[in-house]
Amino acid sequence: MAASPELRGAVTAPALPPLREVIARHGLAASKALGQNFLLDEQLLDRIAAVPGDLMGAQVLEIGPGPGGLTRALLRAGAQVTAIERDRRCMPALAELAEAFPDQLHVIEGDALAIPLAQAVDGPCHIVSNLPYNVGTALLISWLGWADWPPQWRSLTLMFQREVAERIVAETNADAYGRLAILSQWRSTARLAMKVHRSAFTPPPKVMSAVVHITPAPMPEGVRPGRLEALTAAAFGQRRKMLRQSLKGLPGALAALESQGLDASRRAETLSVEEFVRIARAMDGG
Ligand code: SAM
Repeated sequence: MAASPELRGAVTAPALPPLREVIARHGLAASKALGQNFLLDEQLLDRIAAVPGDLMGAQVLEIGPGPGGLTRALLRAGAQVTAIERDRRCMPALAELAEAFPDQLHVIEGDALAIPLAQAVDGPCHIVSNLPYNVGTALLISWLGWADWPPQWRSLTLMFQREVAERIVAETNADAYGRLAILSQWRSTARLAMKVHRSAFTPPPKVMSAVVHITPAPMPEGVRPGRLEALTAAAFGQRRKMLRQSLKGLPGALAALESQGLDASRRAETLSVEEFVRIARAMDGG
């Protein structure tokens, strides 16, 4: 019988104690301040770890391993995992996991916002994380704003609150369409890989979640990331206003818009990602 995509290439997994037992034994009561909502269903965790594709031998950065549920799934898939965790209480549980998967797991205790990716991982890597909700968007924006392209990361597989996930993958004219959609889509492909019910988490958060999968795409020529960021910030800063009004304070933006034959009476949410790219390019004289 052919192996299922989830199982193909998996390493022989050592027997591990149930995650509930790990949490109880190490006293890992969930901290709200650290955005801790743990996933304990190992089948679900294996499905999330399968989203980036075959990880056998691949470098993976995980933010916030907590008691190590997603980390186990990544290790079972054969990944070389570097995990950054802020909560010192999780270190003994993660040390046990490192012992169970020799030479596959490296844990860094610290704040992911303060540790540059290039410092944590050497070379190309996939990023896979059930992100802490309070720092998730800031981390995403830092990865999307990478100066060189393609970036060091080969894919992002990230759990967000569903509302944030919908903003990342939103299409032009949708209510959820805005800055996050443009920053996620102008040189990347973003898709909603999986919806996750709130009851899958311990403790359950108030809202539903979803996993998004983002991969780098070719970067349009002649556009600076900073330029596009400033343009979308201005355009969506007053999203219900006409662009004539919302872009007034950004030097060169209105002239660039008109040079592209775009109507200044339109509103930001009606402009496609490609139209934003054209305006940003024209602002830089392209
Ligand atoms: N990966 C685990 C899972 O799926 O069950 C835990 C996910 S939980 C939503 C988020 C994790 O991120 C927690 O373990 C929390 O301690 C950690 N965390 C929160 N803020 C962090 C930060 N700034 N840097 C690194 N880890 C952080």
